[in-house]
Amino acid sequence: MINLAKEMNGVRTAVIAGHIRPDGDAIGSCLGLYFYIRENYPEVSCKVYLEETPNAYRNVCGVDEIRHEIDETEEPDVFFCLDCADEKRLGAAGKLLGKAKHSVCIDHHISNGGFGDVNYIVPQASSTSELIFTVLDEEKIPFHTAEALYMGIVHDTGVFRHSCTSPETMEIAAKLMRKGINCSQIINTTYYEKTYHQNQILGRALLESILLLDKKIIFSAIRKKDMDFYCVEPSDLDGIVQILMSTAGTEAAIFLYEIKSHEYKVSMRSKEIIDVSEIASYFGGGGHIRAAGCNMQGSIYDVVNNITLHMEKQLRKKQNEEKQQV
Ligand code: 5GP
Ligand code: MN
Repeated sequence: MINLAKEMNGVRTAVIAGHIRPDGDAIGSCLGLYFYIRENYPEVSCKVYLEETPNAYRNVCGVDEIRHEIDETEEPDVFFCLDCADEKRLGAAGKLLGKAKHSVCIDHHISNGGFGDVNYIVPQASSTSELIFTVLDEEKIPFHTAEALYMGIVHDTGVFRHSCTSPETMEIAAKLMRKGINCSQIINTTYYEKTYHQNQILGRALLESILLLDKKIIFSAIRKKDMDFYCVEPSDLDGIVQILMSTAGTEAAIFLYEIKSHEYKVSMRSKEIIDVSEIASYFGGGGHIRAAGCNMQGSIYDVVNNITLHMEKQLRKKQNEEKQQV
């Protein structure tokens, strides 16, 4: 556990940053801490750096204060690195990490080796937003921090549905709710609501999905030309992999989208058996046991073949263990 008051002692300038292609938890944890520092340390100049905000979060309070271009002359007293498994995934903001006098890394990615001066990494935590709550003084949490942290928890737990949701997660969510935030609005507008085009491309991904490995794995891919046709950005594809995995009988879902010719962004989700973080790490990515990703090169066929080989191995190992127990 870290002591935020200690980390903020004597600080005049603070920078907060999260992972590239920010999701609900990266945005929620960064904005949550930002509003807390602004409220409780008014003498501190605090800036948040994240890549472009996906459309789903456009109405979230504070997103217009997020900076997307870094100021390279900056030498912050403290750099908070949130929800980011490694330095590379900080993107441009990584340049400021090296210049900071002190760095604090708060994260829940199992693949995070701890690259800050001070590290608070809890892989069992549902989200970085949940961890941020635990380092704050509950009485001093302002309304907008509560909104942002609640949003982060909602997104990384798939609305309190994934196995990372613990009794502590629910207790923290309840405490945030008591700050008077509009929970159903946060859930509906940032998590469930999709544009017409997003729903069209979701339909396309579902229509073209295929079942592999004895129907245990569901797979789908979207090519660049389809993204152009439906006028969608990569962030518009968030959530598709989760919906693929809701298919009964599957153990895991693989979703790819083309970044450039022969290069794909891979998203994987798993229910109970497969450790997708291990597979993503093998291919140079990372994430969590039940949700992970990486970039891979080759044809769609190569990518899916390479991944399913690993999944098959894990499924077979589990079957053998079960046989031995009988
Ligand atoms: P998603 O499939 O939603 O993009 O990502 C699932 C989880 O895996 C997230 O926690 C995300 O941070 C992590 N992740 C996705 N892609 C990569 C990657 O290329 N490298 C690493 N280290 N983590 C990734
Ligand atoms: Mn997260």
